[in-house]
Amino acid sequence: MTEKIWTIGSILRWTEQYFGKKGVETPRLDAEVLLSHVLGRERIHLYVHFDEPLEKAELARFREAVAERARHKPVAYITGRREFMGLDFSVSPAVLIPRPDTEILVEAAAERLPMVTAQAPLRFADIGTGSGAIALSVLSLCGGSSADAVDISPEALSVAQRNAAALGLDGRVTFHRGDLLAPLADEAYAAILSNPPYIPAAEIDGLAPDVRGYEPLLALRGGASGLEFYARLLEEAPRCLQAGGFLAVEAGIGQAQRIRAMAGTGWGRVEILPDLAGIERVVVLWKA
Ligand code: GLN
Repeated sequence: MTEKIWTIGSILRWTEQYFGKKGVETPRLDAEVLLSHVLGRERIHLYVHFDEPLEKAELARFREAVAERARHKPVAYITGRREFMGLDFSVSPAVLIPRPDTEILVEAAAERLPMVTAQAPLRFADIGTGSGAIALSVLSLCGGSSADAVDISPEALSVAQRNAAALGLDGRVTFHRGDLLAPLADEAYAAILSNPPYIPAAEIDGLAPDVRGYEPLLALRGGASGLEFYARLLEEAPRCLQAGGFLAVEAGIGQAQRIRAMAGTGWGRVEILPDLAGIERVVVLWKA
């Protein structure tokens, strides 16, 4: 009996259709990313070798990945990797997958950090670091800076530690396990950064199946209002910030103005920055 020979081109076409039927949002892209992962090649390789047949073992591994994706497991958890700010991050289900929205926070922080002080050392904290995406990309953009990164999840911290080492930044960041700012001494940071959990309790069930079924709820649940962690950050951050430093947080849709209101009059200038979709995504609060 002869088995059907699958080529790179024909398996991609088949998978794209199959993912489409399963309600996967970007069927072609996902098929390509998974196949290049299984083959250990760049995506461009797929196009240059369209008519090349797949080996049996490759096909078996690809089928496994396709089945996982059809059950809505995010591509990044299948490949174990996600690109963020042009850097390659290792991810696991213990950490939120870094999102493009969060690049706004990183860019805002990297742009403002040098404004705080002209003298070294420029030190900042990242609260709820997860994969380390925020802390590590700010470190890579701001030469001479160093960071303390905190997470309550030891599993997340080991992913972040691995990323720090892989990016050659482990000498500039110290990881701490704990709740928000609790593990930090009264250090006068130039900035405190955070993408805290901000999904209101009532909206958790309505999240996309890829998110709800696979990403850590610990990183998403923002309490009844979704704003619980902002209240605590606004309360705790001033203790650890130098005068002229800033707290910068990512916000969910419709939350930025509420965060500004919660901050009251105890802060100096407040900036609200939009993301590429025009959503008010980042709030920067300067300590007077
Ligand atoms: N942006 C994420 C989402 O919508 C939530 C991230 C967070 O809670 N910090 O899934």
